[in-house]
Amino acid sequence: MNIDFNKNNDGLVPAIIQDAITKNVLMLGYMNQEAFDKTQKTKLVTFFSRTKNRLWTKGEESGNTLQLIDTKLDCDNDSLLIQVQPTGPTCHKGTDTCWAEENSPNYGFFSTLETVIADRVANKDSEKSYVASLFAKGINKVAQKVGEEAVETVIEAMDSNDELFVYESADLLFHYLMLLQAKGFTLKDIEAELKKRQK
Ligand code: AMP
Ligand code: ZN
Ligand code: ZN
Ligand code: ZN
Repeated sequence: MNIDFNKNNDGLVPAIIQDAITKNVLMLGYMNQEAFDKTQKTKLVTFFSRTKNRLWTKGEESGNTLQLIDTKLDCDNDSLLIQVQPTGPTCHKGTDTCWAEENSPNYGFFSTLETVIADRVANKDSEKSYVASLFAKGINKVAQKVGEEAVETVIEAMDSNDELFVYESADLLFHYLMLLQAKGFTLKDIEAELKKRQK
């Protein structure tokens, strides 16, 4: 990789750090040749810290390292896009990215659904809203519905009817989101639990 380290006469190029899966921009750092080489060799993102005036492997104190997935050079060879898998929150303030005031769940449409469910529950309009009416019957009813939809999903899975399987899976997921809400949890909590199990 032919990187132009001397455009600013300081031997440094900016390195944009991006989550390889979510595509979130996590942080910005600077690399010199040595930091770049170390990053490629160890697969742990290493910068040249202008504050510390030395090589700085992200996570060396916090343990919140950045595992190198891919490196891309821009059109005129003077900046890097580094795709990573973060092991924890990237910002030293505890957020996933350096541009967030708090960690926001990023499950796209499913996050939208979580918000809609919370909104229906808060408004308590049982006449207009199915979600509100189910909630009004209590947590056990919500849990029971999840059980029913799970059984229906299993039946359709065994029946090899793809259309009904997808239909019941949607029912299951939607009711499961309601159960999470009823129990005071969000998908973020489940993500955290699953991540604990990652090796
Ligand atoms: P770490 O490399 O995560 O062990 O953090 C070591 C130190 O580097 C922290 O105490 C911060 O001063 C600084 N630091 C860590 N992460 C960031 C970041 N994303 N942006 C700027 N400074 C950071
Ligand atoms: Zn450029
Ligand atoms: Zn930060
Ligand atoms: Zn169903």
